[in-house]
Amino acid sequence: MPGRLSARAGRAARALIAAALLTLAGGAAWTAPPALVARAVALGGDAAAGAAAGAEAVTVTFDRAPAFTLHSLNDPPRVVVDLPLTDWRSAAPAPRAGLARGVRFGLAAPGRSRLVVDLGGPAAAAATLDPRADGVTLTLTLRAQDAAAFAASAPTPPPRAAAARRAPVAAIDPGHGGADPGASHGALVEKTLTLAHAHALRAALEARGWRAVLTRDDDAFVGLAERVARARAAGADVLVSLHADAVPQPEVAGVSIYTLSARASDADAAALAARENRAELVLEAAFPGVESDVAHLLAPQVRRETAQASARLGAALVAALSAQPLLPGRPLRAAGFQVLRAPDMPAALIELGFLSSPADRARLTDPAATVSTAQAVAAGLDAWADAAAPQNRAD
Ligand SMILES: [Zn+2]
Repeated sequence: MPGRLSARAGRAARALIAAALLTLAGGAAWTAPPALVARAVALGGDAAAGAAAGAEAVTVTFDRAPAFTLHSLNDPPRVVVDLPLTDWRSAAPAPRAGLARGVRFGLAAPGRSRLVVDLGGPAAAAATLDPRADGVTLTLTLRAQDAAAFAASAPTPPPRAAAARRAPVAAIDPGHGGADPGASHGALVEKTLTLAHAHALRAALEARGWRAVLTRDDDAFVGLAERVARARAAGADVLVSLHADAVPQPEVAGVSIYTLSARASDADAAALAARENRAELVLEAAFPGVESDVAHLLAPQVRRETAQASARLGAALVAALSAQPLLPGRPLRAAGFQVLRAPDMPAALIELGFLSSPADRARLTDPAATVSTAQAVAAGLDAWADAAAPQNRAD
């Protein structure tokens, strides 16, 4: 109990320091404005009060006037509204027949949201903003148009296969480094092992057409927030953190995969997260967890989408690693790892094995086994990216 109290006091102190730093920074780096809130999205119906006969309307009610841009795309015909980061508080209306067949919305890029109206046929779109007592309504009025006129105003984006050819980018994060060795067994230290495995994973991913960046490429100490910052600066689509644990029981062995959760899936996962986060506490006392504070400024929708993508990533990695020696029982777990806390980047942490296990030590230091593990992880990332591509494209 005293431990729990002091942990809570520590968290409170860290939050205070973070708040103070955010204030001192003058908000220059972290002035994310509160997300726009979209309360209701409606298709057709009497929302088209101002629309002439033959026109249809799509309405979105926001908490305040949105800064937006409107354009159309062809093949298939659709209308696109680009918006600042938006917290979508209502479900999309069910698809229907008509000029406005359906509405999709979501995160288009970090900090930017998008609403897409799928059209039943070519249509001209106009937008108006109307203040209401509880916010502002954006009305898109759609009027049937001949195909040639629509095609002239609506470019056809490159086909999906071509557009998807942008190489996905993975940030590979070798755990620990420099003054922070991580776990160890005799002369074998985690920080060296994770870097070797990161190099193998980079090669395996590049062989599959990925671009891979390392959050550290030598034996240097890099703070946990800085690791995420480096991943984001590289335009990473996903972050994979590599670690290896050590426990008192030499018989405990195997690979396990973790995704972020506020609540650990079990006591072992909680203890592990505490061990992995310790570097942050010891070596970064003057650099509090800014990432986790930024998370609170971002729309819940963004964090939800990231959490769902991370959960899918965890499942894909477990499936791809099924031929590897997985930690028996529950190889996929959740815990509060600092490095997984970027609110807008799907992430997973792989504990490659246990330095306390003779079998794992042999496997983790064997070059052929290192390559085979890396290839399995790369296959899992590929499967995840392939499955995510259609849903993630809000265009
Ligand atoms: Zn570690």
